[in-house]
Amino acid sequence: MSYRAGYVALVGEPNVGKSTLLNALLGQKLSIVTPKPQTTRHKIAGILTKENFQIVFLDTPGLIEPKYALQEVMMAFANDAIRDADIVVLLVDASSHGAADSLKSWRGVGRKLEQGGDKPIFLLLNKIDLVKKHEILPIIQSASEIYPFKEIIPVSALTGENLDDLEKTIVKYLPEGKAFYPEDYVSDRDERFFVSELVREEMFKAFKEEVPYSTTVEIEEFRESDDVRKTYIRAVIYVEKESQKGIIIGKNGAALKQIGQNSRKQIEEMIGHEVFLELFVKVRGGWRNNKKTLSQLGYR
Ligand code: GDP
Ligand code: MG
Repeated sequence: MSYRAGYVALVGEPNVGKSTLLNALLGQKLSIVTPKPQTTRHKIAGILTKENFQIVFLDTPGLIEPKYALQEVMMAFANDAIRDADIVVLLVDASSHGAADSLKSWRGVGRKLEQGGDKPIFLLLNKIDLVKKHEILPIIQSASEIYPFKEIIPVSALTGENLDDLEKTIVKYLPEGKAFYPEDYVSDRDERFFVSELVREEMFKAFKEEVPYSTTVEIEEFRESDDVRKTYIRAVIYVEKESQKGIIIGKNGAALKQIGQNSRKQIEEMIGHEVFLELFVKVRGGWRNNKKTLSQLGYR
């Protein structure tokens, strides 16, 4: 069989499970996963290479109306991903009460995606572990009436159900061609980037509402110590206001200490050896609204 390779954009509203799916397909943690919407800001290519194919996944921020500069940048990433893709995979949460309503709203999106050419659009009904078996078929039925998706595939990114089928179906539609990346690449992002994402994820776990959305993490130093088994990392958490800085640091530094400990565990798991992590919190007023600051902070 000939070799196939191509780009697959994962699109959908916040919280439908795009990052979870990507991580499950790749068998490792690449994109941060949190129960809060809009935590994915970057376009992340996860790369799945097997004997006869290579799939480059583009994980996109949720399709939302831009409210401030950061969201505009996020939307631009999503649009880029759709433009660059050979296949567009539209995820919906099949378990949500409004599944049918939510499907209807995707008819418009489907039409919009069509304008990108005749690339195949799949509908992925995610979270079927939360749906009763006999309810799945009717959802597929109504989805197929709403828009002529090339494929409709029910899956659970969480339990892994039907992901084999998804993989096979994607490969079927991939163009023939050579691999884009060496076979041992899993992402076009480096460890530094994933370290900053892991710290950011801890912020979403620790704080509610606006605070985590107001933070961004910059890795100022990332260096192997003389003893190669230990990596020294200095990271800065940027916030927009003094008050947010106070919340993140916490009473006697307790909150920041906890974030540091949790992040270090996650980073050590990813890197595979001991890490020395130093965290600082700095105020950078209005960073989310400033395109120049956004690009300096790595939102490219
Ligand atoms: P994204 O915003 O689309 O990237 O969504 P995430 O991947 O961050 O997932 C949002 C939430 O949905 C997290 O709490 C996930 O654990 C949960 N989730 C994702 N996929 C599934 C699934 O198949 N089943 C269930 N029960 N939960 C899921
Ligand atoms: Mg995500």
